[in-house]
Amino acid sequence: MKDSNSSSTTKMFYEEKKATKLFLWLFYIFYLAFELIYYYIFPNLDGRGITKPQEGLGIWIYIILLGLLPIAIFLMKKGNPYVIKYLYIYSFIVVDTVHNLLIYYGTEKSFAAGDIIEVVFILFSPIFVNKKYFWTVSVGMLLKYMIIGLILLDPQVVAPIVIYIILSAIAFVILIRYDSYILTLTEVHEELRRKEKLAVIGQMAAAIGHEIRNPLSSLKGFTQLQQERYPNTNDFYPIMIQEIDRINSIVNDLMTLGKPKEIKFSKANIEEIIAYTLSITQQQAERQGVSVETTMAGPLPPIDCDGKQLKQVFINLIKNAIESMPDGGKIKVRVKVIEGNKMYISIKDEGCGIDGENLLNLGEPFYTTKKDGTGLGLMVTNQIIKDHKGHITFDSSQLNGTKVTVILPIFQINS
Ligand code: ADP
Ligand code: MG
Repeated sequence: MKDSNSSSTTKMFYEEKKATKLFLWLFYIFYLAFELIYYYIFPNLDGRGITKPQEGLGIWIYIILLGLLPIAIFLMKKGNPYVIKYLYIYSFIVVDTVHNLLIYYGTEKSFAAGDIIEVVFILFSPIFVNKKYFWTVSVGMLLKYMIIGLILLDPQVVAPIVIYIILSAIAFVILIRYDSYILTLTEVHEELRRKEKLAVIGQMAAAIGHEIRNPLSSLKGFTQLQQERYPNTNDFYPIMIQEIDRINSIVNDLMTLGKPKEIKFSKANIEEIIAYTLSITQQQAERQGVSVETTMAGPLPPIDCDGKQLKQVFINLIKNAIESMPDGGKIKVRVKVIEGNKMYISIKDEGCGIDGENLLNLGEPFYTTKKDGTGLGLMVTNQIIKDHKGHITFDSSQLNGTKVTVILPIFQINS
């Protein structure tokens, strides 16, 4: 985890350096070429001669802008490339504003707006994939022209403002695309890592689980024997057996994590599956003062499924619903056919609900908020539903509790 983070930070650092180098090249090439052609070559060809360096900041504007280069190189070497782009945009805006005001303020000269370097600033701003920098450039340029326009009271500034708004919009679209592209890549990468982690955990869990199962079943057998032999001496036996069952069910969950069981599809009755689930969870529900109301809409067709696994799904979901209501409440189970070929099952509780942030963690292995939870129930549930080509959704609020909806195809193709 730490490794991959620091290596991705290093990679980002190199990306920033590359982008900054590119930016510096573009900046100086475009700037110098533009100055050379516009103020030295063209005027000479026309016979007007060189006029520029005498105006405004004169030669100083070159000295300042070229003087930034050693600073940039120093910052790059110091390992702080991130500030270089800001150094350039701020310096340029300030220097160029002063320069323009010196040339035009108090004169009758009409303001000649627009500079290729500003276009470079705006159009290439997406290379840093940084929204803050993008806004600095776009808003900075617009402010620069607004200030100049206000001071000089010259309507000429409207043209560059309009053009730069359009260019900014283009740059923004590119930036957003880059950004979402990178986000997707990061997500895919995360997903891959998660799967890899799961596979390793899974294999380990399956191996260990397998080893635990045999001693566990003899332990349970002997405990039962002991209980039968001394029926009146000890009331810890039922608890011991119950706890052994609990270990067993955890081991079973862990094992499905490792090697997904082969699914055996056959026709099964959803009513029977739900009834079985409720009978298993009934004791726990009663203990906690939870009642269950079931509504089945009309005659329900049998569905293609692995009945044993679906029972596991609904046991997990109903148990979660019960556990969300430690002070009692009501669970509503609804079953109906939708779209002619899908079975809809919803389980609604009046419990504590799941807040938005945690909704994302549901189904992550070992994610639990319970003192003695395993955080495996929903993971197994998700896997089984996926194997059945179904869907599960959670609708939850801390006020109204949680509604879990499972949609399963009635017919499995190729089964
Ligand atoms: P466990 O039940 O062992 O904690 P699960 O995978 O079944 O593991 O559930 C993970 C977590 O999801 C629970 O700890 C709980 O915080 C939350 N959760 C699941 N179902 C519900 C529900 N019906 N109401 C409130 N929270 C729930
Ligand atoms: Mg659970």
